[in-house]
Amino acid sequence: MTRSLDSIVGAGLCSGCGMCAGVAPGGPIAMHESAEGYYRPVATAPVPQAQAELVDAVCPGLNIVHGPEAPEAPRHPVWGPLIETKLGWSTDGALRRNASSGGGLSAMLVHLLAAGEIDYVVQTAVSDESPVRNALKISTGRDDIFVSAGSRYAPSSPLGDIATRLDAPGRFAFVGKPCDVAGLRALARRDPRVDAKVPYMLAFMCAGVPSHRGTDAVLTAMGVTDRSAVVSFRFRGDGWPGFATAVLADGTRFTMDYNRSWGTILNRFLQFRCKICPDGIGEFADITFADGWHCDEKGYPLFEETDGRSLVVTRTAKGAALFARAEAAGHVASEPVAIDALRQMQPFQAKRKGLVLSRVAAMISVGHRPPRFRGLSLAANARMLGAKENAKSYLGTLRRLARKRNPG
Ligand SMILES: Cc1cc2nc3c(=O)[nH]c(=O)nc-3n(C[C@H](O)[C@H](O)[C@H](O)COP(=O)(O)OP(=O)(O)OC[C@H]3O[C@@H](n4cnc5c(N)ncnc54)[C@H](O)[C@@H]3O)c2cc1C
Repeated sequence: MTRSLDSIVGAGLCSGCGMCAGVAPGGPIAMHESAEGYYRPVATAPVPQAQAELVDAVCPGLNIVHGPEAPEAPRHPVWGPLIETKLGWSTDGALRRNASSGGGLSAMLVHLLAAGEIDYVVQTAVSDESPVRNALKISTGRDDIFVSAGSRYAPSSPLGDIATRLDAPGRFAFVGKPCDVAGLRALARRDPRVDAKVPYMLAFMCAGVPSHRGTDAVLTAMGVTDRSAVVSFRFRGDGWPGFATAVLADGTRFTMDYNRSWGTILNRFLQFRCKICPDGIGEFADITFADGWHCDEKGYPLFEETDGRSLVVTRTAKGAALFARAEAAGHVASEPVAIDALRQMQPFQAKRKGLVLSRVAAMISVGHRPPRFRGLSLAANARMLGAKENAKSYLGTLRRLARKRNPG
């Protein structure tokens, strides 16, 4: 049975990607900011049956389903389809510094544009209208990529105009969170324009999307009292990991380190859908990027300032070939990293898939219909976690749902 927008949002499954609105420009669905500070779809008129069926099939909040893509890539039970793992960084020193980790992702975009393999990039950057909001950005050269580099730990809807993009002339690379990319991959199975127009989909690993209230809480904790005086705000970057930095009109700067901004504030504002996310690691992308954290002698990630490096996971033969071409052209440098090192560099992601089934079971036990998550080795990951962790995560989710019956 087709699931309605209300049922998807009400069960806490919406990730705010914008796909449902984007597939029918000028249609009845538009994205709005919710009272909780997330982007959510609102239908102002009945949704036509064909659009409702398409949304039901491709909404990544509802569907994270592996299809026939990338048969060449062996599937790792934890890390998904992968060809190679590397550490990489942009050879453009300013871009490397401005980027989130090593600018590996941005280096791919710069290479694709310079080589004429694409006409433009669809990505997310700070909004022109507000320094504390994100907006979809079209980038056509290195300077655009530079401005959009860096992580914006706040809602984004990069699929919000997808049908318009697919109708427009030109081929583009798409950058998104793992759920955004999974949604576009699902759309490609139904709409041949996607493969014709989007030769590359790039993702970064994602621990979840904090609400705009999270951004606000960071500003408060920094001591920014007058929000209207903020002229620029970054979550990190300008170093690795860099500092959350707010600059006021009079030039006053407020900063906060990554450990505090992400580790103690932003991660308390994640939307419910991210708590049950089965793909924080970008399994549907051609290449996924993440922080290639250095680790201490006990294997824990260190967040001390140093030259950035991106963890690079190539997931399709096309993605691996792109990385090799970008390296041969001098846009990116890399060194090998063993797959076993990923567990130390990304300990949260290493555990995360194991939590999904217990959390979805808790949803079901309070009466919500579950999402469709297929082909992700979730049962194997739950087994690896063990009975105690599963019970803890089931009960924790039940408590969360008891506090808020409608988690959307
Ligand atoms: C919400 C969120 C959660 C994250 N969680 C993790 C994590 O758990 N582990 C981890 O290693 N890394 C995480 N990252 C990603 C990480 O911070 C880096 O993006 C990654 O290391 C790649 O770095 P880079 O220097 O290669 O990327 P860059 O060259 O800096 O490129 C970053 C790209 O991300 C895009 N982008 C930034 N913010 C958003 C957004 N909100 N929505 C869509 N696109 C965006 C930009 O347009 C840019 O193209 C997260 C990022 C975000 C935004």
